[in-house]
Amino acid sequence: MPRYGMVIDETKCVGCNACRVACQNQNHLSEYEAFNHLEEREYGKFPNYSREFLPVQCQHCDNPPCVKVCPTGASYKRKDGVVLVDKNKCIGCKYCIAACPYNVRIIDEKEGYIEKCRFCIEFVEKGEKPACVTTCMTGVRKFGDLDDPGSEISQEIIKHKLKQFKAELNTKPKIYYKKA
Ligand code: SF4
Ligand code: SF4
Ligand code: SF4
Repeated sequence: MPRYGMVIDETKCVGCNACRVACQNQNHLSEYEAFNHLEEREYGKFPNYSREFLPVQCQHCDNPPCVKVCPTGASYKRKDGVVLVDKNKCIGCKYCIAACPYNVRIIDEKEGYIEKCRFCIEFVEKGEKPACVTTCMTGVRKFGDLDDPGSEISQEIIKHKLKQFKAELNTKPKIYYKKA
């Protein structure tokens, strides 16, 4: 059984938002809804000024606070580590939105249930890669099996001593970042 994860190379992100649009298409979201977003950081003053983009989506935490607070079991973690929402069990209480430190859950206002990044699991199970991975022209995201020491992402994590976003919160995210 794989344990899916991702490496995001922040140094390669040019802020084009193609991943956001690809995800919106894949998941039939409107232009105002998104499962991934860019956090912008600005450094210095003109002319010594730089801007960086941090791509953020559900981190598929191994210790997910969203699952712990969900009163109905709608938010759950699969055996392969992917965190999902069962829309049939979700009552739209938004506890999970409050509990998630990554600001990656949205509510379907019409239907009243919560949605978020699914790691494109239906496509991954068919041997494909997530839409945000294949769309990115600069190759920011890599997807694979964290439990396979020979996988590209495992090798990158070890080689570059990569860390997770907000690792200090002990949510144990399965996305690792290569930072500028
Ligand atoms: Fe849950 Fe947020 Fe972690 Fe995703 S990033 S598993 S929504 S706590
Ligand atoms: Fe669970 Fe839905 Fe409530 Fe979130 S909004 S905690 S998924 S029931
Ligand atoms: Fe969207 Fe799939 Fe990427 Fe998650 S893995 S952000 S659902 S395209």
